[in-house]
Amino acid sequence: MPLNIQVLGADDTVTGSRSLLTYQGRSWLIDCGLFQGDKAKRERNWLPFSIQPSSLAGVLLTHAHLDHTGYLPRLCQQGFAGPIHATQGTVDLTQILLLDAAHLEEEAAAFANRTHYSNHSPAEPLFTAADAALANSRLVPHRRDQWIPLAEGLSFRLVRAGHIIGASMIQIAADLGDRGMRTLTFTGDLGNDRSHHLRPPEYIHGTDVLVLESTYGDRLQPREDGLVALAEVVRRTMARGGVLVIPAFAVGRAQELTYMLRLLEDQGKIPAVPVILDSPMATAAMEVCLRHPEDQVLQSAFTGSADPFRPRLFEVSQTVDESMLSCMRDGPMIVISASGMLNGGRILHHLKARLPDPRSTVVFCGYQAEGTKGRFLQDHSADLATLRIHHVEVPIAAEIVTLDHLSSHADYVDTLTWLSHMAQPPAQIVLNHGEPQAQRALAAHILQRFGVQAILACEAKHIVIQ
Ligand SMILES: [Zn+2]
Repeated sequence: MPLNIQVLGADDTVTGSRSLLTYQGRSWLIDCGLFQGDKAKRERNWLPFSIQPSSLAGVLLTHAHLDHTGYLPRLCQQGFAGPIHATQGTVDLTQILLLDAAHLEEEAAAFANRTHYSNHSPAEPLFTAADAALANSRLVPHRRDQWIPLAEGLSFRLVRAGHIIGASMIQIAADLGDRGMRTLTFTGDLGNDRSHHLRPPEYIHGTDVLVLESTYGDRLQPREDGLVALAEVVRRTMARGGVLVIPAFAVGRAQELTYMLRLLEDQGKIPAVPVILDSPMATAAMEVCLRHPEDQVLQSAFTGSADPFRPRLFEVSQTVDESMLSCMRDGPMIVISASGMLNGGRILHHLKARLPDPRSTVVFCGYQAEGTKGRFLQDHSADLATLRIHHVEVPIAAEIVTLDHLSSHADYVDTLTWLSHMAQPPAQIVLNHGEPQAQRALAAHILQRFGVQAILACEAKHIVIQ
């Protein structure tokens, strides 16, 4: 009874998470993500899917981020009609994210057709709002930690991963007949124990096969409290009368940030200044956070408001007009907007307004993938005079800061610590969701510590379960 995994994405990059699990001739997709970043990566979304989508028995999701879910509408458009399994938290967030992504796709195609700024005529969206609604209708919520049958001899369960609300590892139990049972674990994005509102990843007792993310496989995040680091940069910028601009992933980082800012205000560590959340999606995700206390530790950390995600002078920009007006306001104030890697969205207008101002600060607090504008600005902040935004060279005078403290990923020490809680190391480890140097570095650490030679997704695409 053969069981195998095929790596279809997040092979040499941190986006496009898609793994195909095949058992007794039937296949399930573990995550169904969009490729994001430079043009070459984004073009992978337009390639024909590796197998006929209608032949898939189902999809299992680790969490809602688009690099793990954003291809679902396209998959449904191409004939996939099976169930999409996830936690309730992931279902709630995915519904918001897919519709938003579809609207952006449709707007981009309409813009390209108006301006003839496309090689394709007419330009088409990768998927539409109708495709996203179809994908949303296939989402099936499950409770964590319960084994759920997928097929005879095959079941799965969801285990908390501590990365965002709803995020889970997926464990698969497969009956291989005479060879006995095997367990496989897909970590998806693995969190750490430094979030101020999320519970940390659950330890697992063991697994025969582990498909492990490696985003920070070659990096360490600071162990200093992120609250202290954030308070310092807020105080410094507010003292200058500047604007603190934070590009943040609308789902995950944005909520962690508003939560931390409120906490710092209550502790008297920062002044209460206007905090503008300029992302309707982040605002919607805030409501989802309040509905999922099971993933959070709010009660112990929080010191006293009905809504711990609202700083005292909290404002939300819903409309484009409100967003544009906030770009013209004087500081001191804090603006949180998306996209988190500066791929597009309202954050670009804020950067155009604030980058030329030496009183202002731009704070990166999430992973910036290779090929993104965010990575470019982060890597070249010391020697870059201008940044090209919307075909305009924008002078850079603002302070540029990276706070790796606020990452929602495990770094390599977190990952090794998490692995060390297993009764024995997995027999097979596959590293995905990392740039090649990160995969190689994490493989070296794992070999040294546990004596297991990991398989790298950037090198091997087809893994047969022993
Ligand atoms: Zn993620």
